[in-house]
Amino acid sequence: MNYQVNDKGYYGEFGGAFIPEMMYPNIEELRREYMSIIHSYDFRQEFISLLKHYVGRPSPLYFAKRMSEHYQSNVFLKREDLNHTGSHKINNTIGQILLAKHLKKKRIIAETGAGQHGVATATVCALMGVQCVVYMGALDVKRQAPNVKKMRMLGAEVIPALSGNQTLKDATNEAMRDWINNPVDTHYIIGSVVGPHPYPDMVARFQSVISEEIRWQLDEQLGRELPTRVIACVGGGSNAAGAFYHFLEDEAVELIGVEAAGKGISTPDTAATLTLGTPGVLHSSHSYLMQNEDGQITEPYSISAGLDYPGIGPLHAHLFKTGRGKYLWATDEEVLQSALLLTRKEGIIPALESAHALAALEKIKLQPEDVNIINLSGRGDKDMETYLDYFGY
Ligand SMILES: *Cc1c(COP(=O)(O)O)cnc(C)c1O
Repeated sequence: MNYQVNDKGYYGEFGGAFIPEMMYPNIEELRREYMSIIHSYDFRQEFISLLKHYVGRPSPLYFAKRMSEHYQSNVFLKREDLNHTGSHKINNTIGQILLAKHLKKKRIIAETGAGQHGVATATVCALMGVQCVVYMGALDVKRQAPNVKKMRMLGAEVIPALSGNQTLKDATNEAMRDWINNPVDTHYIIGSVVGPHPYPDMVARFQSVISEEIRWQLDEQLGRELPTRVIACVGGGSNAAGAFYHFLEDEAVELIGVEAAGKGISTPDTAATLTLGTPGVLHSSHSYLMQNEDGQITEPYSISAGLDYPGIGPLHAHLFKTGRGKYLWATDEEVLQSALLLTRKEGIIPALESAHALAALEKIKLQPEDVNIINLSGRGDKDMETYLDYFGY
């Protein structure tokens, strides 16, 4: 079995580049250039150096002793929450801003839903002194005010998308329109392993530093490179792709993605794309998505804004279809309890997204000798209001 993208941009039957003709020059330039740039000596040097000195990598692989006692199995946390800006998203934006520099782009655009990717993009633009425009649904601008303020302080222009439901999908449409109108000087930084080829592969490669580190860190701590399983939450799928990447060919390692079930998979308030979705095209890529019988995208819901996405990256669709990956789901309720458990057992307040991965520990039959890696994609600072409301502190 092969889990890498082929030269046409497909993972099995999923992926591709279903783009309007007007966007062809932008995508074609990227497709032609990305591999040679990211393998070049200059790019590697700068990428590795910034990940180390600016992001703070390697992120720790932490043996969670009290969590392990609780579950009677070995639990390790990959601490992406300790990265600069508080999540794994910075790994990708650092990679893409360097790529943009090599392509001689002078202006960056991005879409954002919860604002986490917008902040990570505005951050690297400030770092490099590059103009930054972030499209965000008008409703999200209201809902995510702290992140909007951060982006503005970082020097980014935040443009509210006024069409449709005024959420992520509409912001993405506006960003694509901008890119079509500015093909020469602008690079579009997509925030997950979604969108047309080569984005899913490119973003997975930037995030793959996560599993690269897990292998040597596990070897250092246990004298073995392979865990029993790797567990990660899945929105678009970038932190999971990064955590799985260097284990894809090691079939003995279980790869487990956890989707957001929201209020439950039998309710309309859910975002469990692989569990409930069907194949179709969204954001220029063939994958699974949440749609009704007429092919209309249904509005997703999750308590965690970062998993509130109606699609999923084509790599995950392929891992799901071939059985190489297992995809579970967790409800809002389960996730809140798992977040509290980690907080009280280890003194770590996780992002709501990451707590979906923790909730899987309740759903898997764990053996005492198992080595379970949880990719802790982000920290909980941004979710304190939600935790406060629910637990009533
Ligand atoms: C954005 C985000 C996610 C979801 O995005 P993926 O591309 O699926 O990784 C997960 N965790 C955190 C902390 C996020 O900010």
